[in-house]
Amino acid sequence: MGTRTKTDMAAPSQPHQATYDTIVIGAGIQGSFTAYHLAQRHRDTLLLEQFILPHSRGSSHGQSRITRSAYPRVPYARMMPDSFRLWKQLEDEAGTSLYRRTGLVVLGPAGDPELEGCRQSLGDNRVLDAVELAQHFPGLRLHAGEVALWDSTGGVLFADRALWAVQDAFRRHGGTLQDGEQVLHIEPGAVLTITTTAGVYRAPRLIITAGAWTRALLAPLGLHLPLQPLRIDVCYWKEKEPGRASRAGPCFMAMGLSQAPHGIYGLPALEYPGLVKVCYHHGSPTDPDERDRVPPGTPRPDVTLLSSFISSYLPGLEPSPAVVETCLYTNTPDGDFILDRHPKYSNIIIGAGFSGHGFKLAPVVGKLLCELSLGEEPSHSTAPFAITRFPGVVRAAL
Ligand SMILES: Cc1cc2nc3c(=O)[nH]c(=O)nc-3n(C[C@H](O)[C@H](O)[C@H](O)COP(=O)(O)OP(=O)(O)OC[C@H]3O[C@@H](n4cnc5c(N)ncnc54)[C@H](O)[C@@H]3O)c2cc1C
Repeated sequence: MGTRTKTDMAAPSQPHQATYDTIVIGAGIQGSFTAYHLAQRHRDTLLLEQFILPHSRGSSHGQSRITRSAYPRVPYARMMPDSFRLWKQLEDEAGTSLYRRTGLVVLGPAGDPELEGCRQSLGDNRVLDAVELAQHFPGLRLHAGEVALWDSTGGVLFADRALWAVQDAFRRHGGTLQDGEQVLHIEPGAVLTITTTAGVYRAPRLIITAGAWTRALLAPLGLHLPLQPLRIDVCYWKEKEPGRASRAGPCFMAMGLSQAPHGIYGLPALEYPGLVKVCYHHGSPTDPDERDRVPPGTPRPDVTLLSSFISSYLPGLEPSPAVVETCLYTNTPDGDFILDRHPKYSNIIIGAGFSGHGFKLAPVVGKLLCELSLGEEPSHSTAPFAITRFPGVVRAAL
C-alpha cells in the first residue's frame, strides 16, 4: 500500500486497494486521530474525506483551540490527563510544537454549578483574589458576586498544524488517506461495503466520524441521532491600544452569566496580530452544506451579546469585531459526546456530537473509538456517551 504526500493529495487517484481492516469516514480531528491509533496498532486503515485537504468546511480548521484541565463534568476531567499525554506524544512524533501553555481563567457567579464543577476538577483551591487576577489577566474585569479560577495547564492547541501532524503520522504508520472522495452509501454486513464518488471498498469494521454530516450518513442505516449542526460566528476583536496582552495573555471561559447562558470563551491573538478571539459558545441551526447562505441583514444576536460582554469585561478591546468567520458545532441535546456502536450493526462505531468542545479530547476520543472497533474494553468508560440515552432513535432503515 502506498502513502500519499501533501503534494499529491489533491490529484485524482485510483483507489490503492479495495479491502481494508478498517475504514474511517471523515478526516476531521476525530477521524484522523482514530485512524492514527488504528494504524499505530498495525491495522490496515483507509481514512476517507469528502473534501480536498486542507479544507475549512467542517469543525476542525483554524489556528487555535483551547485545552484545559478545568471541566464542569467529571467524565471529561478524568480524560484530560490522558489527552495532555497523547498530545505530547504526537508533538514528539511529529517533531513540532502543537500546544502553547498560556493558563486559563474561568469566571462566573460564585456558586454557579458549572464553575463549581470546574473548581473541583482542578483538584485544589485555585480561586484567584483580585490581586492575583490582575497579575494573570490585567485586562479582565470581574463584577460583583463573581469569582475567577486559575487553570495553569490551560493553553492553545494549534489546530490546523495538529490536524496535519496527526494525518501525516497516520500515513507514516502505513495508513491510506483518500481526500476529495465522498462516501455515498454504506452497505452493512459482516464485511461492509462502502461506495464513494471514486470507488468501492470493503472492511469488517467501519468508524463514522463525519461531524455535522453524521446524521445524514446514519439515517439510511435506521439511526436518527439528535445531532444539531450550528453555524458559529468566530469573532476577532482589536485592542484599543496595541500591546502585548493580546498575544501573551491567558485563555478564558465565562460561564453561568445570565446574559450569555451558553458561555463565552477567548484566546490570545494568534490568527491575526493584535486581534483577540472571543466567541459565544453557541450559534444558529444550519445545514452543513448551506452554512454560508445567510440572507443579508439577518440579525446576529450572538455578535450583539459578545459586544456587550466585551464592553463590560474586556474594556481594552474595541466593542465591535474586526473579523467574523464561521465554523460548525454539532450539538447533542445534553452537550455530551456520542461514542458508541450502532445499536443494530455492531461493527459500525460512531463518534459524533462533540458539541463545540471536542478538539482537546481528540487523542482520547480516537483511542476509545479504536478500542471499541477492535472489541476491546475502552480505556475510559464510554457509558456517559451511549446512544441509549436518546430513546426512540432506532427506526426502520430507509
Ligand atoms: C469556532 C469553534 C471553536 C472551537 N473551540 C474549541 C476549543 O476551544 N476547544 C475544543 O476542545 N474544541 C473546540 N471546538 C470544537 C472542535 O473543534 C470540534 O469538536 C471538532 O473539531 C470536531 O471534529 P470532527 O472530526 O468531529 O468534525 P469535522 O472536523 O467536521 O470532521 C468531519 C469530517 O467528515 C467529513 N465528511 C462528512 N461526511 C462525509 C462523507 N460522506 N464522506 C467523506 N467525508 C465526510 C467532513 O468533510 C469533515 O472533514 C471548536 C469548534 C468551533 C467550530
